[in-house]
Amino acid sequence: MDDIVKRIEVLEERSKALEPASAERRSLLASLQAHTEQFLDGIEDDRAFKKFTTSPADLDIDGEATDVKELLAIYDRELQQKGLNPASGGHLGYIPGGGLYTSALGDMLAAVSDQYAGMYFGGPGAVNMENALIDWTKEIFGYPASAIGNMTSGGSIANLIALTAARDKHGIKNEKVSISVIYLSEQVHHCVQKAIRIIGLEDAQIRYIPLDAHFRLDANVLRLAVDNDRQNGLIPFLVVGSAGTTDTGAIDPLNEIADIAEQQNLWFHVDAAYGGYFILVDSLKERFAGISRSDSLAVDPHKGLFLPYGTGIVLVKDMEAVMHSQHYTANYMQDARSGEHPVNPADVSPELTKHFRGPRMWLPLRLHGIEPFKACLEEKVLLTDYMRRKLADMGFRLGPEPDLSVSFFWYEPEDMDTDTFNKRLIEHIHADGRVFLSSSIIAGRFVIRIALLAFRTKKSTIDKGLAMISDALDRTKEEFAK
Ligand SMILES: *Cc1c(COP(=O)(O)O)cnc(C)c1O
Repeated sequence: MDDIVKRIEVLEERSKALEPASAERRSLLASLQAHTEQFLDGIEDDRAFKKFTTSPADLDIDGEATDVKELLAIYDRELQQKGLNPASGGHLGYIPGGGLYTSALGDMLAAVSDQYAGMYFGGPGAVNMENALIDWTKEIFGYPASAIGNMTSGGSIANLIALTAARDKHGIKNEKVSISVIYLSEQVHHCVQKAIRIIGLEDAQIRYIPLDAHFRLDANVLRLAVDNDRQNGLIPFLVVGSAGTTDTGAIDPLNEIADIAEQQNLWFHVDAAYGGYFILVDSLKERFAGISRSDSLAVDPHKGLFLPYGTGIVLVKDMEAVMHSQHYTANYMQDARSGEHPVNPADVSPELTKHFRGPRMWLPLRLHGIEPFKACLEEKVLLTDYMRRKLADMGFRLGPEPDLSVSFFWYEPEDMDTDTFNKRLIEHIHADGRVFLSSSIIAGRFVIRIALLAFRTKKSTIDKGLAMISDALDRTKEEFAK
């Protein structure tokens, strides 16, 4: 017994380092704060993209205790000085992220208190907070209070949960799989195709519905396709529409799809991961008409609400359909089940224990109120318009008028291959890096995308980007003139 006590004393002494005392906590926080202040103070003038060579990174776990200042220097060198800066307002590529400072403070609260957000019994306040955010999301999209929701890691898992519910609602399994039909737009996000495979529907029939001139799903083609499949003895059961496609920012005709889904008994899922929160802008609301008629929807606060990466939300009207796959009981969980409690987040998601995502969204929304969010979203739409007009003045060709804040452009040179020219143009843009743009292939053409959603993107950022594009254009022209 004495031996054990002695050993415990030794171990207690050694493990003490895991609980820094007050003075040390302040000192750590001061170091971190100095680092983040420097990062944020420099972010406007720093390049959004830095070309990098992969060198052996100094990130290995060597088992030794290291001073925090040295670790922050490594963080700067290995992460902040390499590649894309997603927190920069100059990030106009892919779908930009956010990184609200007040959200980081929320994360700190969540981590320090380490609240449990998986089950109501373990974390009633945490579950209530997430439910308050989910209820607000239901209101925004006109979903009934009876709908169920979950805060996920992002849009991919939100879409996965919704599609699993669609599968189970329609009992798509065994021999039914290969005669079941899923309708997707040609511009559907690839996480939907991944979800279909993950949930065992790889062998279902997948119909890609062509798009109209504005890259919106053509509802007439959808209607004919569903009729045709039914006549052929197949089982149409799911249609996925987008409220803001990744490549072109288009919103599908949601009301028309909802009509077809109702008539044909299809589950209607809307992927609003990128575009959903634009519904907050009064002048844009009308474009989302019909979204409330969907059976499920996925939206990403880490896009449209400018949160740091790691937060999506799924809403599903049919609770039973979700619970079929996600609810499971185990003996060791018996204390945590009660019919009187709100539904446990763990019964709506594959996750049991998870990052407590509530405070990173709740704190900014409560601290700032909703107006700055609305203003920031509307600003992005107007900046997109502004940038398109300027690009047209510079001689670029533009994609169709976008529904939201994603668009594309390309240059049509005389006497040479257009794609070759634009591929070289984006290389020059990346080498410059003041502002980051990404490219895509749309309607068979190599194009340069603009995606405005970073909350730090301002008119001055766009002007800087336009100057950069102009320089890159001159350089590309010169190069090919030789
Ligand atoms: C980003 C995005 C997704 C994927 O969401 P993640 O949060 O990256 O997992 C799905 N659909 C659309 C339209 C998106 O823009």
